[in-house]
Amino acid sequence: MAKAICIRCGAKKPKGLNRCRSCGLDPKSDNDLALKSVYLSIGRFTEDEERQQLYERELDAMSQSIREGTVPEFADADLQRLARERELVKALTPKRAAYYLFRTFLPAFLLLGILYAIMFALKAYLGK
Ligand SMILES: [Zn+2]
Repeated sequence: MAKAICIRCGAKKPKGLNRCRSCGLDPKSDNDLALKSVYLSIGRFTEDEERQQLYERELDAMSQSIREGTVPEFADADLQRLARERELVKALTPKRAAYYLFRTFLPAFLLLGILYAIMFALKAYLGK
């Protein structure tokens, strides 16, 4: 069963963003092409293994119909979701990830700092 198929010729390939060995189409050359290529792969349902397996069968059928000249149809909602996911992945550089972690844990560090200061002040006050 197919894990991914070429959007232009319907040939099967291991991953949506792989260059097609049959017609040479490179999905990474264009953003829209990349999205639609992920759509025509099990990458369309990354969170749901059961659905991926069902989709592999669908991809087999779509591979056949693309070979016969049918232009595949894409559900807008799914394309938009994949576009958003792609943007998120692109936006998540290590620097940004570190920044988000820092921002997330900053309140906890501040609270610890305040508690430590109170403890310190109490100790000094009690003369211990
Ligand atoms: Zn191809």
